[in-house]
Amino acid sequence: SYPLHSNDARGNFKVVIRVRPPLPREIDPVHGFRSIIEVSPDNKRITLQEYLGAAANDEERELDISENPGLATFHHFTFDYVYDQDSTQVQVYDRTARQAVLSVLEGYNATLLAYGQTGTGKTYTMEGFKYNSTDPQRGIVPRASEEIFKIIESSQSQNVTFMVRASYLQIYNEFISDLLKPERGTLQIREEKRRGVFVEGLSEWAVRSATDICSLMQKGEMTRATASTKMNDLSSRSHAVFIIIVEHMMTTELEGSDDISKDIKVGKLNLVDLAGSERVRLTGATGKRLEESKKINQSLSALGNVIAALTDTKPRTHIPYRDSKLTRLLEDSLGGNCITTMMAMISPSNDSFGESLSTVKFANRAK
Ligand code: ADP
Ligand code: MG
Repeated sequence: SYPLHSNDARGNFKVVIRVRPPLPREIDPVHGFRSIIEVSPDNKRITLQEYLGAAANDEERELDISENPGLATFHHFTFDYVYDQDSTQVQVYDRTARQAVLSVLEGYNATLLAYGQTGTGKTYTMEGFKYNSTDPQRGIVPRASEEIFKIIESSQSQNVTFMVRASYLQIYNEFISDLLKPERGTLQIREEKRRGVFVEGLSEWAVRSATDICSLMQKGEMTRATASTKMNDLSSRSHAVFIIIVEHMMTTELEGSDDISKDIKVGKLNLVDLAGSERVRLTGATGKRLEESKKINQSLSALGNVIAALTDTKPRTHIPYRDSKLTRLLEDSLGGNCITTMMAMISPSNDSFGESLSTVKFANRAK
């Protein structure tokens, strides 16, 4: 059954946290690894342990805290859901992404955002590793594509047809480029009465299967990777937006005449892999690097401001969509009857405490 929509932006807005497992580089081969994150059994609450001492490894840290409890401070937060480090891709899809995908098939717009420090699992959650339909590590984009085509196949009939299109763009330094037609250069956002807000010249690709969508995604990834080697790790400093548009046409023959009535519904799914949220140390950064960091901070805080305005308990008349390219682009897909989900990713490691706390606070503000 399909989700019921309310026109209440808060009801359609969800914030979840995902904690990834420790990476080999975070595990001390001698002293092992102790997470600083605790997730409540009902997966609603998360606690971050802040350590004020000077232990050299996780084992010493635990000992230190057990002897001097005052060296630890605990920060508690509540969210719609908290995925712990054992969560699987299928759980994240079923519990968090699926509803948005189904709503798009019903003709609504929806947005899934992956937020977090570089290396916390944004791309893993969105894309996963491989693109074959049996890999359990495949992420939201392949799973959403599979579900869309499965539903289309089961509901297509003489009177019902679907058309699916996909686009893939990148926003870097407030410049938009087409990852599937990079030769088109910088693209502009335009607004027309009939079309609403759109990216002028962005290529749209007709797709007939989940495999088609995944090939486009891989093609775009290649463009991103090539640009990244030229400019070290550009991908962590740009937002990548994968867009799937589902057009659903129903025709009915009007009785007693040759006329046909057409009913068209269009839904758009925005899958956003955001730039790394790490607070780049502005001291020491100069020129291009400094400008870049300012732009990332600006666009992420513009996103935070839009979401905070949309989810405010007091209805606001002014939503600051125009403060960044990303929020402008998503204007018709955030808030209102659009299902919007912010997925904030964190590392379980003590080394990342500062970044994790700032991510969880950002997500908390978006609730
Ligand atoms: P980001 O896109 O946020 O920079 P990545 O998605 O590239 O981060 O993840 C960083 C590393 O952590 C990758 O090697 C990825 O495979 C791994 N990783 C992230 N999340 C998980 C997870 N939930 N389970 C297993 N490995 C993960
Ligand atoms: Mg990434």
